[in-house]
Amino acid sequence: MPETILVTGASGYVASHVIRQFLEAGYKVRGTVRNEASAEKVRHAHAQYADNLSFSYVKDMSVPGAFNEAVQGIDGIIHTASPFILDAKDYEKELFTPAVNGTLFILQAAKAHAPGVRRIVITSSFASVLDVTKGLRPGYVYTETNWNPMTVEETHAAGPSPAYLVSKTLAEKAAFDFVEKEKPGFSIATVTPPMVYGPLLETYDSMEKLNTSSMDIYRLFNGSLKEVPDTAFWAYIDVRDLARAHYLAYTTPAAANQRYLTAARNFSYQILCDMIRAKYPELVATTPEGRANQPLPDVYRLDTSKAKKELGLEYRSLEETLFDAVDTFLTM
Ligand code: NAP
Repeated sequence: MPETILVTGASGYVASHVIRQFLEAGYKVRGTVRNEASAEKVRHAHAQYADNLSFSYVKDMSVPGAFNEAVQGIDGIIHTASPFILDAKDYEKELFTPAVNGTLFILQAAKAHAPGVRRIVITSSFASVLDVTKGLRPGYVYTETNWNPMTVEETHAAGPSPAYLVSKTLAEKAAFDFVEKEKPGFSIATVTPPMVYGPLLETYDSMEKLNTSSMDIYRLFNGSLKEVPDTAFWAYIDVRDLARAHYLAYTTPAAANQRYLTAARNFSYQILCDMIRAKYPELVATTPEGRANQPLPDVYRLDTSKAKKELGLEYRSLEETLFDAVDTFLTM
């Protein structure tokens, strides 16, 4: 009997590739969604695997017991659901509560109601690693030992983008604290990707509905920008490689209670604009030129050797990631 994996936030961009990764590997997948419209979108994206895909409806993951039903009979869990918005107004309600409670309630549900679960992989973020107050930090190398030191109080002055970073930090810390205190019968593994780019598996009726990181690419060539924007986060990973990272963190015994920095390499928006303008003559007029061919400045690096050594994770080229993303946006 194939194992059944619960993927929370199944309607999300990252989740769509995680689901595909597990379906392709022969697993059954149960996705949590907030409504039927989301379920239908996911079903459509993975139509060829319809027999192995099912859904559980979790309207509000901030409510205690939210996942108690969804985890019944499950063998493993990938928890991707978390708000990824950089314009929240009420940080507590829109970011901290769903991020932290969602994480705690999936862990509690698994402990109490899913004795078959041995591993839960949590999609954290480089947000929970980076110290955004240090800026470019030339020469510095982030590793899994780094934690974003910003407090909830500091986000009130810092703004909605740092508040998102803190929501991910609080959630990931809460997960490791839970395992330490509650000693459940399962282990966890967290992956901490920076910006996630690459193709979409799902179709959208409006580009306005693109997830935050896809919009980050789309806006570079859709004519909405006159200038190349300042790069916010200087590293990225391909969404397919991130899905693979989740799969490997799930299947690798040594990943028990480990944290993995997963990133392909550094990049800048200037480099992306240069590449788009060089490859797509039809997009030259709508993609800002900026200071063409300016080399990457001296910025912090990410040490991804742990994921390479322990998970065997490899990365696609920037060309493949960017051009596959642009191509899917152009065909929508
Ligand atoms: P996404 O497309 O916006 O997906 C987010 C998912 O979480 C959706 O399924 C969404 O459900 C669900 N969700 C959000 N808030 C929720 C709430 N309050 N209650 C229940 N479900 C909720 O974003 P994504 O880029 O795939 O992000 C997925 C995960 O990757 C997140 O944990 C994010 O922090 C992490 N991550 C993403 C990036 C990136 O660049 N994309 C980078 C680092 C880490 P609905 O569809 O119903 O809204």
